[in-house]
Amino acid sequence: MRLHFYGTAASEGVPAAFCECEYCQKIRKAGGKNLRMRTCVQLDEDVLIDFSMDTYAQTLFRNLDLSAISYLLVTHSHEDHFFPATLTSILPPWAFYDRKRSLDVYGNEKIIQKVVEATENLGEDHGRPEEYLKLHQLSYYQGFSLGKYYVMPLPASHDKKENCMIYIIQDQEKTLLYGHDSNMFCKETWQRLKDYRFDCVVLDCTMVEETGVYAGHMGLPDNIQVRDRMLAEGMATEKTKFVLTHFVHRFNPLHERITPIFAEKGFLAAYDGMDVEF
Ligand SMILES: [Zn+2]
Ligand SMILES: [Zn+2]
Ligand SMILES: [Zn+2]
Repeated sequence: MRLHFYGTAASEGVPAAFCECEYCQKIRKAGGKNLRMRTCVQLDEDVLIDFSMDTYAQTLFRNLDLSAISYLLVTHSHEDHFFPATLTSILPPWAFYDRKRSLDVYGNEKIIQKVVEATENLGEDHGRPEEYLKLHQLSYYQGFSLGKYYVMPLPASHDKKENCMIYIIQDQEKTLLYGHDSNMFCKETWQRLKDYRFDCVVLDCTMVEETGVYAGHMGLPDNIQVRDRMLAEGMATEKTKFVLTHFVHRFNPLHERITPIFAEKGFLAAYDGMDVEF
């Protein structure tokens, strides 16, 4: 499996638009791997995980080719993970096709509701939205096939107003845990995770080296707890790749600063444009 990261920031982006903090100023000047758009990851050829307000910019500046994507898996409805205003541009006449093609969209009840709201009052020249966006509502613990993969949605500890999900994604050979946005996993989620041995684990590192500042998120001390438990209980081995992402500017996620700090604890620091193969 191969993951490509198009965006590795939490909701404000890094640097944050109006922020004049010392980190944002430094990051603006440094550029390169320090500039982070909102969350979006591609799995292999045709699966996209999350679709934020930056997805359009990612098609312009991060080589994201949406025509290659057949499946969109969404973790939850916060705008830094799901932005239906751009998704609806799959409809004519915003998009022209040689043939009718559809995008299969998977997410919780709120995702489905947001797509319906964004498409229900469009005029006739936009065609029938259901021909272009095939909606699949997910429930916790109800595994399903997604192309050549098998996906298991589990509860995230993130926002009680909706069923936020993390995903176990498997093909014939490998097993991935796509584990954000989430605070420390709940008992029920751990119970399920115990049945797997992961080749790659992607975790929420919103607070970089801190913890407890934001509800519904992790920082490095939490990530260390997750990794230690996974190693101790056979959910991971020393070969498992642990990737940290979803950073907030105020905790100074300067790429070259965090890379050695994370590496020492057994983690990779994600950046926009990073590939991880496992
Ligand atoms: Zn987020
Ligand atoms: Zn800032
Ligand atoms: Zn969120």
